[in-house]
Amino acid sequence: MIQQLLLIEDDPMIGRGLMRALNDEGISVEWCHDATSGETALLRARPALVLLDLGLPDKSGMDVLATSRKRHPDVPILIITARDDVDDRVAGLEAGADDYIIKPFGMKELLARIRAVLRRIEPAGSHLLTNGEISLNTLTHEASYRNRSVILPAREFSLLLFLTSNPGKIFSRDQIEQRLYEWNRDVTNNALDVLIYSLRKKFDNEIIRNVRGIGWMVLKHPHQAN
Ligand code: CA
Repeated sequence: MIQQLLLIEDDPMIGRGLMRALNDEGISVEWCHDATSGETALLRARPALVLLDLGLPDKSGMDVLATSRKRHPDVPILIITARDDVDDRVAGLEAGADDYIIKPFGMKELLARIRAVLRRIEPAGSHLLTNGEISLNTLTHEASYRNRSVILPAREFSLLLFLTSNPGKIFSRDQIEQRLYEWNRDVTNNALDVLIYSLRKKFDNEIIRNVRGIGWMVLKHPHQAN
């Protein structure tokens, strides 16, 4: 996964839904359930974006907003507020939030806003991942392999992104499924096979190599650094 997004949200339903939707988009997420752990996470690492609920159990999300602005002035912040909290919203924007979203919200809208915020701050080209003959665009979900380009559905893209981000490493069925579906227990057993079959059909059998009895991999390009 390319982007690490920091989600600070105490509502378990909303948090789980967001984790699922964002993982589906190939965005990795660290989820903190209160302001204190959110601030700790901000001091530890620099996320690509902060998704911040202003109504948190231990203290105000505004404090987290201030910590984030101070520690990582260039990291965009998207605040989540309740419909009637107009004052909060204004205060959040004045304190440096880049955008806001009102509860209840649709995932499509949220993802569109996240993409828009990331697009504004990312230098051109940083959403492209290339390894050998595979090239992936994390904004558009376009995948290119050997002169063929296809816009992939979310799960196929996530799988290819995961393997391409770790070229030359073999992952077992368990490891891949855990990475792709940790949030979803009702995935059928053959879901991974279906995804691999579909990707091979769209491109070529060689796009994902099977190492018999061990797992799957994307070949490491011989001239690639690291
Ligand atoms: Ca809340």
